[in-house]
This record gives sequence, structure tokens and C-alpha cells, in this order.
Amino acid sequence: MAMGEPAADGLTEKCGVVGMSLDEEDAALPLYYGLYALQHRGQESAGIVTHDGFQQHSHVEMGLVGDAFDEADVESLKGSSGIGHVRYPTAGSVDTSCAQPFTVSFKGGALGLSHNGNLVNAAEVRDDLANKGHAFTSDGDTEVIAHDLARNLLEEDLVRAVKRTMERVHGSYALTITHDDTVLGVRDPEGNRPLCIGRLDDGHVIASESAAIDTLGGELVRDVKPGELVVLHEDGGGFDSYQLKDPEHTAHCFFEYVYFARPDSVIDEELVYEVRRELGRKLWAEAGADTDVVMPVPDSGRAFASGYADAAQEDDADVEFAEGLMKNRYVGRTFIMPTQEARERAVRLKLNPIRSTVEGKTVTLIDDSIVRGTTSDQLVELLYDAGAEEVHVRIGAPKILAPCYMGINMATREELIGANRSTEEICEHIGADSLSYLSVDAITEAVGKSGDDLCLGCVTGEYPYDIDGEMTDRDVERPVVRPEPVDAD
Ligand code: SF4
Repeated sequence: MAMGEPAADGLTEKCGVVGMSLDEEDAALPLYYGLYALQHRGQESAGIVTHDGFQQHSHVEMGLVGDAFDEADVESLKGSSGIGHVRYPTAGSVDTSCAQPFTVSFKGGALGLSHNGNLVNAAEVRDDLANKGHAFTSDGDTEVIAHDLARNLLEEDLVRAVKRTMERVHGSYALTITHDDTVLGVRDPEGNRPLCIGRLDDGHVIASESAAIDTLGGELVRDVKPGELVVLHEDGGGFDSYQLKDPEHTAHCFFEYVYFARPDSVIDEELVYEVRRELGRKLWAEAGADTDVVMPVPDSGRAFASGYADAAQEDDADVEFAEGLMKNRYVGRTFIMPTQEARERAVRLKLNPIRSTVEGKTVTLIDDSIVRGTTSDQLVELLYDAGAEEVHVRIGAPKILAPCYMGINMATREELIGANRSTEEICEHIGADSLSYLSVDAITEAVGKSGDDLCLGCVTGEYPYDIDGEMTDRDVERPVVRPEPVDAD
């Protein structure tokens, strides 16, 4: 499914964050454009917090960036430093109490926090803080980080306070933070979510993806390193770096490359589009099907299908790359449809086959994932209805067999078709002539990282974090939030 699409069979990304410190300009308008560039990472709410050197200004609304702000809202956000956030709900309920940036005013100043990811020990830290008198206004994990950081800032300087919070929280977090008019970026020690730094004409920016820096006419400097704190200079002239945690291995989410990130973003010096094309090439090498045409599910399968077709043609396979399914770009969210017939109509509203490229042909259909399997069967049926003789489905990622706890709205084990059925059974369920997924090895090769430096939890069932009731794929140290009292004996 297309990235960020809240469809029944889609994965939905979590959030996008941005932060910037400028010399002269107000930060609100560039933050707003930065959020536009990250809209695919969250469509539920959008918000910006700025600081003008005296006070904090905040505007957070439900809805898309274009709906959440009007000109007057942006103009009211004074100050040359600030952060922004787009959100799809992960931990916490779906209302404005969990929309971000989260703000808190305390004796040590004003904090704003934008969080991408999900803590797996938020409940423990929350309980501990509640016992110490902190009152929470939401059930989200971002508020937990905000309170912990505010508490530490009363006792420590900024860098030590962030370090102390990093030593207590466990899980996935890419953060942009304002402490008064200072802007920070923090990436969890496993680097699970992307975060990068860019240079602008008038200052510096930190963003989830480099596409946001491009949109602002800036230049990508580098990724924020796993475990690193970046503090932007208040005049926008540069930044300071503090490596607060230095883990032996990282746990980058491989699905950022496969699905979530924009294809025009660069993560760890790899252009996401090229990684996807390489995955397509590997898909041909591992599971190429001898068909007349190969076509993508738009838009998510396009880069995979182009790499797949190139590799097939290099092998002298007589396969033609074709766009066989056309997408109606003006269909937004479809409301929940109770009947099978209505659901099928919804798929036809979104996608229409081009009969002449399909009729009488054998077809390979390429997509990036199958989550619940509720859309794939309809796509296969669409192609048969348009006259396809055979439909072979190829997926540019391994089979998803376990949920995500790090901020991806994926599905439960009960809902995941891959958790409960063999590949043959899924093939039968979606009505295809054959079905193949990509191997985990192909992912590590295409991304250029070893499995020890990636999170592969949803496709292996073993996670790089210590999650209650789940297995880990490495030695993981979960922080002890409340040390047990030492026995006097
Ligand atoms: S479980 Fe899957 S989606 Fe979640 S962080 Fe790991 S690789 Fe990414």
C-alpha cells in the first residue's frame, strides 16, 4: 500500500519531526514547509512550537498540515527557533491531548518536544514519575520523556539532563526539542528512526528525512548518529555534538528503506529510491516469474518493479515493464465500509486497471508488503477481471509475521496474515497463481548493513529491544527505572 495511507491493509507510519534555529527569519514558515515535506509520516495532527527569546508560542491541530494552519496561525508563531511535528497515533489516544509538539512549562523554563518512535518502558517511567508527584495530561509516551527531562533539568545542565533521560527510557525515539530558544535533536542509541541535520541559508535544521531539507533549499550535512545529542547554535550558525551513548550495534528500522521514508530521501548515505530498486533486482534474482508484463502496485511498488524489470531484461527475460493499475489521486480516506461489496468498490475507486496492458497477458504484480491481506486479494481480482491470464505476486520485503512495538501501526498477531498462514496459504487466500517474498539476507545486502545493525523484529519475531512477552535477537540491557531496595540482610 502507498506509504502513510491509513487503509485497512496498510502499515501506518508514526510521525515526522523537524526543528530549526535561524539567524534572522522567523522559523514558523520554514517549519511549516518542512512539515509539508514530511506529511507522509503522519496525517492525524500537525503542530509547531516556536520561541522568541522571551516566550513560547504553540499551535497544534488535528488534520493535515494544510488544514491545521492558516496564514494567521503561522504569523502568530514568533521567534527564530522552533520545532514541528506530524503525527499518526501510535502510543496514546487519538485526540489533541496526544497531538504534538508536547509543551511543558516548569521552573527551569519552557520545553517543547516532538517525538518519532515509541518507548517500550513508558509505563515504568510514568509510574515512577507519578510516584514523585508528576501529573500527566495524556496517555502518550512523549509526555513521559518531557516530564523526565524537565525533572532532570532542575538538577543538571542541558547535556547531562538529556543523558540522564536517555539512561532511563528504552525504545525508539528520534526527538526534536526546544528548551526555551535552544533547539536540540536526539536519536536513540539504536538509531531506530531516522534523523538528519541540514544547513540552510539562514541557519540549521534537524528533520526526520532529508527530503524536508531539500524542500527548504538546504543541504544535507549528515545523519544524527545513534545515541547523539545535537544542539543547534541560537544564531543558526552551527551545532554542537555530544555522543551520549555509544552502542556496539544499532537497530535501524529496515522498513524505513522498504516503505516509510520518501524515495527521494537519503538515509545513512543511501538514497532510498536506489535501495528499493536494488531490492527489486534481488526479488528478480530470488523469485523471478516468467510473465509477459511486470507492474507495480502504485505508488508503493514502483521502485521495486523498475529494479525487478531491469534485472529481468539484463537476464534476457522477455518481460515488459508496464503501468497496469492507475491510481485516482483524489481519493482520500475511505470511511469504514461494512460490506464486502462496498470495500471492493473502494478499491476500484482508488485503482483502475488498464485493460490493454493486462488482457490476455501473464502478469507479475509487485508491492512492498502484505499486512492483513485484505487489499491484495482485490488487486489480484481486478487484474483477472481485466483479462489477465495469470497473476504472480512478488513482495519486496520478507513476510511480516509479528507486530511492531517501536511506533509503527501495523496490526496485531491475530490480524497479520503472515503470522497465521504459510506463504502457500496466503497465495491461495489472495487468489494469485504464485506468491514470493524477499529474503532477510536480500534486505541486509541491499541496505548494506548486517542484521546486527538493523531492526528486523516484525519479520523475524525477535527484537532489538527488551519487550515484555517477546524474544530479543541480541543482548539487550533494559534500564532499571526503580532500583529494588537493597536488602539490609
Ligand atoms: S518491528 Fe519492523 S516496522 Fe517496527 S521498527 Fe522493527 S523493522 Fe521497523
